Amino acid sequence: MPEEKSAIEICDVTKLFGDAFKALDGVSLSIRKNEFFTLLGPSGCGKTTLLRLIAGFEYPTAGTIQLHGKDIATLPPYQRPINTVFQNYALFPHMTASQNIGFGLEMLGRPKAEIAARVDEMLRLVRMEGLRHRRTTELSGGQQQRVALARALAPTPKVLLLDEPLSALDYKLRKEMQIELKRLQLETGITFIFVTHDQEEALTMSDRIAVLSGGRVLQVGNPREIYDCPGDRFVADFIGEANFLSGEIIVATKDRAQVRLASGADILARLPDTAPQQGKVTIIVRPEHAEVHADGRPSPLSGTLESIVYFGTDTHLHVRLAHGDRFVVRRQNSPLQDAALVAGATVGVAFDLAAAQILRN
Ligand code: ATP
Repeated sequence: MPEEKSAIEICDVTKLFGDAFKALDGVSLSIRKNEFFTLLGPSGCGKTTLLRLIAGFEYPTAGTIQLHGKDIATLPPYQRPINTVFQNYALFPHMTASQNIGFGLEMLGRPKAEIAARVDEMLRLVRMEGLRHRRTTELSGGQQQRVALARALAPTPKVLLLDEPLSALDYKLRKEMQIELKRLQLETGITFIFVTHDQEEALTMSDRIAVLSGGRVLQVGNPREIYDCPGDRFVADFIGEANFLSGEIIVATKDRAQVRLASGADILARLPDTAPQQGKVTIIVRPEHAEVHADGRPSPLSGTLESIVYFGTDTHLHVRLAHGDRFVVRRQNSPLQDAALVAGATVGVAFDLAAAQILRN
C-alpha cells in the first residue's frame, strides 16, 4: 500500500448551529504530514469551529474527517492522537511547570520514570529547564505559553492544533514565539494546524495557508502563492495591502491580457486560469510594485500626491488618481533615493507589468 501522505483529510464538511446557521459550508482540505498549516480569516469565518471539529469537541453536520487515512469524525477527543494549545493556555495554576507538562502522560498511565524523562526532554525543547519548579502563577505570559506547548507536545500527538496561541503576547514576544513555534514544528516533525486572523503571522510561519471567509475556503497555497497570486478580491485585500483598478480586457492570450484602464491607458496584466478572459475586470497591484514620479514622463495613471507617510523602513505615498480612486505606493527608504516628492504635486504612477494581476470576479 502506498504511504499515506496526508495527515488530515477534510472532505465536504458542513457545520450547522441551530437549524439554519452554517458556520462551515462544504469545507474540503488536505493537510499534509509534517506541515505547518494555517487557517487564516477574519473573526467569525469558522476557523475555531473547524479546529474544534478536528479535535473532536464538535461533530460535523455533514462530511468526513480522516486522520492518517482513518475516519475520526465520530471519535471522542480523548481517542484522537491530537492535542490543542488554547489561546488562554489553560494551565493548572496550582501546579508547577513540570507537573503541568507531565499531567497528560499521567492521565495516560505512563510509568513514572518515562514521564520524568519526557518532561525533561520537553523542558529542554521549549528552553524552560531553569523554571521547572515555578508555579503557573509565577511565570510570565511567554513562559506560560512555552509550558502549554510542552504539555501539548509531551504525549507526541500526530497533530497539534493551535488556536491563536500568540494573541495574548506583546508584539516583541509574539515575533520571538513565531520563530520558536516554527522551530518546534521542524524539530518535532508533528503536523501543526495553526489558527490566526493575523496575516503577517500566517505569512511568516506557514508552509501553506487556507484563507477562509463566511465558512468557506477561498484559497489554499503557500505564502508566496497567496500573496503574489491572490485568487479574488477578498484574499487580495485580507493579505497585505492592495490597490484595485477597474478595466476592460481588450485582448487576451494564454496567461496575460491587454486591459484598458478607466484612465484610458492600456496595460498588460497577468491572467490566471480562474480569471475572466473578457469583459470588465478588476486588477490588483501591490503597493511595493508601483512607483511614483513627478518628472512628467508618460505613465498609465496620474493624479495628485495627497500624503507622504514615513514608516522607518519604507514610506507610503497616497495618490488620488485623476478618475477619483486612491492608490498607495510603498517605497523602500534609502539614503540614496531622490527625495524630491512633495504633497500636492501632480504625479504619474507606474508599475511593473508583471506585478499587475487580473482577479477572479
Ligand atoms: P474568531 O477569530 O473571532 O475566534 P472564528 O473564525 O474562529 O472567529 P468561529 O468561532 O468558528 O469563528 O465561529 C464561526 C461562526 O459560528 C460565528 O458566527 C459564531 O458566532 C458561530 N458559532 C460558533 N460556535 C457556535 C455555537 N456553539 N453556537 C452557535 N453559533 C456558534
